[in-house]
Parts: sequence; structure tokens; C-alpha cells
Amino acid sequence: MKNTKQQLLDELKARIEKDDPTPELREGATRLVFGDGSASAEVVFIGEAPGKNEDLQGKPFVGAAGKFLDEMLGMIGLARKDIYITNIVKYRPPNNRDPEPEEKKAFLPYLQSQLEIIQPKVVVTLGRHSMNCFLPDLQISKVHGEPKRVKLSLKKHADDVLEVVILPLFHPAAALYNGGMRQTLIDDFSLIPAILKKIKD
Ligand code: URA
Repeated sequence: MKNTKQQLLDELKARIEKDDPTPELREGATRLVFGDGSASAEVVFIGEAPGKNEDLQGKPFVGAAGKFLDEMLGMIGLARKDIYITNIVKYRPPNNRDPEPEEKKAFLPYLQSQLEIIQPKVVVTLGRHSMNCFLPDLQISKVHGEPKRVKLSLKKHADDVLEVVILPLFHPAAALYNGGMRQTLIDDFSLIPAILKKIKD
């Protein structure tokens, strides 16, 4: 039987399909790429938007960047089933262009609801678009690998906040073929277990 969190995620996915926040993106895409992994994950990874493979398969990070991400997860003893992964924008932008500010804005409330349901301890942002959703004034080149404590206000209960640690990382697609950045990303990634342990202690 599905747990409640998974049911709530399923309902949220259906709500996005009904609300249709970005009709133009939806028309150009094959399908909504909502998210994948454990609904009760302690760590949530957030990328930018689906690419070609993700659009075809309906799951985030299944192409070359995703394989690299899986490798790095393996290095810290985790698998996709242990984490949750999603994107800010949930339809593939045409020709893999960067998501537009209005597109990110349109999907932000849904991303917030995803986090509200999952209640992760750590949110790993992949790339500057994702980082800037939570930490708008920071530059990824300066703060990658530096965990930041953030209070997210929740939509359902205005007075409630969700305290999470944001870990900004370079995007795996950017680091894939850049030796220096690749090693930096691997080094930053390897901080995840210690960050989690510190939060739990
Ligand atoms: N890049 C992203 O940001 N997200 C994906 O799902 C795939 C590649």
C-alpha cells in the first residue's frame, strides 16, 4: 500500500496537470516530469528542468547527467530509491533552453508543496537556477559546497516554517566534461553524509 506522503505527491502531480501553469511548455513537451524516489527522503535533489531523455521517460535525471549523479550517489552509499529528485520546471523547455524566469515562478509553489509533503532535512540544489530559488542573492561559484540553513514558509500553515539545510552544488551536466569542476562537484557531494549526521546528532 502506498504511504500517505506518496498519495499526497500523486495528488499534487494531478493538480499540476489540472492547473496547467505553463500551457506553452506543456504543448511542446511529451509529458510532465514530476519527480522520482522516496516520498519520505531525508535528502531532496533539485535540478533545472527535464531534458530530452527525461521528457521521453517521464523521470528526472535519466540521461548523461543523471548517470553521473547516480555514480556520485553510489560513492556516498546511496541509491535513487533512498533520495527524492525533481526539477524546478516540470516540462521540458524547447531545445533544452534555460527555463525563463516566469516559468520558474509558475512552478515554484508546486516545488514548495513537494518539499512540504516530503519534509527533507537537506535540499541539494543542482546548478544556479535551482540554488537561486532558495538563495537568490548568492553566486554558485562562490558558495558551492557551503551548507546554508534556510527557513521555508509553508503554504498550508502560514505560521509554520520548514527548516532545511540547502547544499548548493554545481550542475552535473556542467561538470560532466570539465575535469576541474567534475572533481569539485564530487568533493562537494561527499559532504552530504556528514551534513546529514550533524543535523541528526
Ligand atoms: N538536467 C536537469 O536539470 N534536470 C534533469 O532532469 C535532467 C537534466
